[in-house]
Amino acid sequence: MMELLKGKPVSDMIREAVMAQIKPEEGIVPRLAIVRVGEKPEDLAYEKSAAKKLTELGIDVVGCAMTDDITPEDFMKTFSEINGDKSIDGILVMRPLPGHLKEYEEWLALHIDPDKDVDGISPINLAGVMRGNPEAFAPCTAQAVIEILKGHGIQLQGKNVVLIGRSMVIGRPLSMLLLKENATVTICHTKTVDLPKICKAADIVIAAAGHAKLVTPEYVRDGQILVDVGINVGEDGNLTGDIDLCEIEKAGINVSATPVPGGIGIVTTSVLAKNVCLSKTRHMM
Ligand code: NAD
Repeated sequence: MMELLKGKPVSDMIREAVMAQIKPEEGIVPRLAIVRVGEKPEDLAYEKSAAKKLTELGIDVVGCAMTDDITPEDFMKTFSEINGDKSIDGILVMRPLPGHLKEYEEWLALHIDPDKDVDGISPINLAGVMRGNPEAFAPCTAQAVIEILKGHGIQLQGKNVVLIGRSMVIGRPLSMLLLKENATVTICHTKTVDLPKICKAADIVIAAAGHAKLVTPEYVRDGQILVDVGINVGEDGNLTGDIDLCEIEKAGINVSATPVPGGIGIVTTSVLAKNVCLSKTRHMM
């Protein structure tokens, strides 16, 4: 039997806590700027969905769109204005930036005000995450994995956690968050030898590879917890994760698993809201 670890109850809990902190009558209205260059459909879709979910909570969302022919100089100037705007509590930048601005992602990470860096791209925040500093903003998706596990009452201390993926957005910061929870962490990647064997030995497998249905029945065993971070758009336009839950279920293996959609994605947006709110609270102190 498969137990689904859905994102909604965890997301609802986070949203309730966020809503309790927003008080328009006292002027407590956090403001998020979403910075986007160009009109990539996936950026537009994410921006629209995040803006809707955060606005519902009472967060003020400001869209800061630039055309994809913007020069690096104008991009840096516009971003610096947003970054310096005292009325803005949090900044989310849609990445990757278009090709001609790709090399400015490093500039962005170095220049974003760490106090407004609600998606944890600044080296100041990432160093804080490495040190286990609870004040540091971690990338929202990495944080969402911890929230969904804890929200479903799953203990991390002493657990063997296998993480597939070593990106700066998910794998690496998540490995540090898991370490902070006293898990024993194995980070796997494209050069890992015998991934199925390593996964099978774990208590918890977290897939963040961006490779549809990578984790098949030969990777898993009864009693494991599977977290699927992957978002892969199939030829039919449907979303699939990195874990082939259908085949795992057909093989009769009993696991607890986060679904895609309806798992990590929905919690990620709530973590973003939580971070914007936290930033507002800190700015008021
Ligand atoms: P990335 O391409 O930067 O990194 C992928 C990592 O997975 C790399 O470290 C790579 O070594 C590893 N990998 C890839 N294929 C592998 C394989 N076959 N075997 C072993 N390791 C493999 O991707 P990313 O930005 O970290 O995103 C990963 C996935 O998470 C993507 O599907 C992305 O869409 C998704 N994502 C989800 C959310 C969310 O909110 N749910 C947010 C951001 C990204």
